[in-house]
Amino acid sequence: MHELALAQRVAHAALEALAGLDPPPRRVVRTVVVAGRLHQIVPDFLTRAFGYCVEGTPAQGSGLDLEIVPVTARCPACGWTGEIEPPWFVCGDCGRPGVEVRTGKEFYLDRLEVERDDD
Ligand SMILES: [Zn+2]
Repeated sequence: MHELALAQRVAHAALEALAGLDPPPRRVVRTVVVAGRLHQIVPDFLTRAFGYCVEGTPAQGSGLDLEIVPVTARCPACGWTGEIEPPWFVCGDCGRPGVEVRTGKEFYLDRLEVERDDD
């Protein structure tokens, strides 16, 4: 289960972003993460692990939303570009293997939604 390690990365990035806000927000409503499908994240595990990681921090109580990026690839043989279905890394047009993966590997904190005192 690699969700814990990923949750720690998100929590770290979120707390770093929060530390840069002046004045600090009253509360973090939502933490939005963009994740490629290749990470094969179990959303429930990630959400729960994130909850543990931010316990006792300014991000405590924040929900976690996952935006999944599909796996897309380009075929060097025929130039086709499109979505592929792991574990089948073959061209959607000519069927050759060896396509170049374009998206689906990303993993980053996209944004935080916060509540301020004057909201
Ligand atoms: Zn092709």
